[in-house]
Amino acid sequence: MKIAILSRNPKLYSTRRLVEAGEELGHEIQVIDPLRCYMTIASQRPTIHYKGEELKDFDAIIPRIGASVTFYGTAVVRQFEMMNVYSVNESVAISRSRDKLRSMQLLARKGIGMPVTGFAHSTKYTNDLIDMVGGAPLVIKLLEGTQGIGVVLAETNKAAESVIEAFRGLRENILVQEFIKEAGGADIRCFIIGDKVVAAMKRQGKEGEFRSNLHRGGSATIVRLTPEERSTAIRAARIMGLSVAGVDLLRSNHGPVIMEVNSSPGLEGIELATEKDVAAQIIQFIEKQAKPGKTKTRGKG
Ligand code: ADP
Ligand code: MG
Repeated sequence: MKIAILSRNPKLYSTRRLVEAGEELGHEIQVIDPLRCYMTIASQRPTIHYKGEELKDFDAIIPRIGASVTFYGTAVVRQFEMMNVYSVNESVAISRSRDKLRSMQLLARKGIGMPVTGFAHSTKYTNDLIDMVGGAPLVIKLLEGTQGIGVVLAETNKAAESVIEAFRGLRENILVQEFIKEAGGADIRCFIIGDKVVAAMKRQGKEGEFRSNLHRGGSATIVRLTPEERSTAIRAARIMGLSVAGVDLLRSNHGPVIMEVNSSPGLEGIELATEKDVAAQIIQFIEKQAKPGKTKTRGKG
């Protein structure tokens, strides 16, 4: 098959591994920077050009769209969908997963457990918002944050109030969340392909840090999921409409609670922690799925 990986950087571990795994399995793989694609939007024959040439005859694409290029990146994915090319994650699902409030509302509606979460536009009733989520200690998050940046633990209501007002003063959108203390600074990343968890790791924040992000100095180890954790992760990915997803959950006193569902989960941490060939499993999934006409969102927003 001819497979395009939409990625800004061919040197990234995840991109390199997907190229390697795809070639090993006998496919033709091309890394394409989505920001360098340009397109004609036409009902008869939509096209994509890249570096002066038309992109043709692709059987599948693997979008690895970074959060900062979601808008243009998903437009490129959508264009491939218009051309009837199978995308392992569809553009609508990627856009959906990038909006934290939308994702949480969607998951909550389907009964997925999550920390009690509040959000507001105005700072006029911040005290009431803090009460609504059970008071301090509270976690306050920038909606646009990644890698643990912009995630703050407020130990008192007063601190929570100041942080919320400071963020809102900077015109940042935030959410306010019950602090799951019993998680002990750890979270669980479940790597989903299709309707299976193919690998899972526990990430533990460094001493004295409640954020488990590897970028913040956390460390990863292999973990055995409970059946409830497994089914929660699979359901969360399915509700989001993602075939490949990284579902992050916390172990709370009332079972697994979802924190986020990532549509371009990194391969490095999970492959190193679990010693599994996740890249090859993504390619093998595409081999089974990528049939013309499998593009569900074709013609839809
Ligand atoms: P980011 O998108 O920046 O990774 P997250 O929402 O994943 O932000 O939060 C970063 C880390 O902070 C999580 O991996 C988790 O370890 C910790 N954390 C986030 N929310 C909570 C919470 N409500 N209770 C306890 N720990 C949390
Ligand atoms: Mg995270």
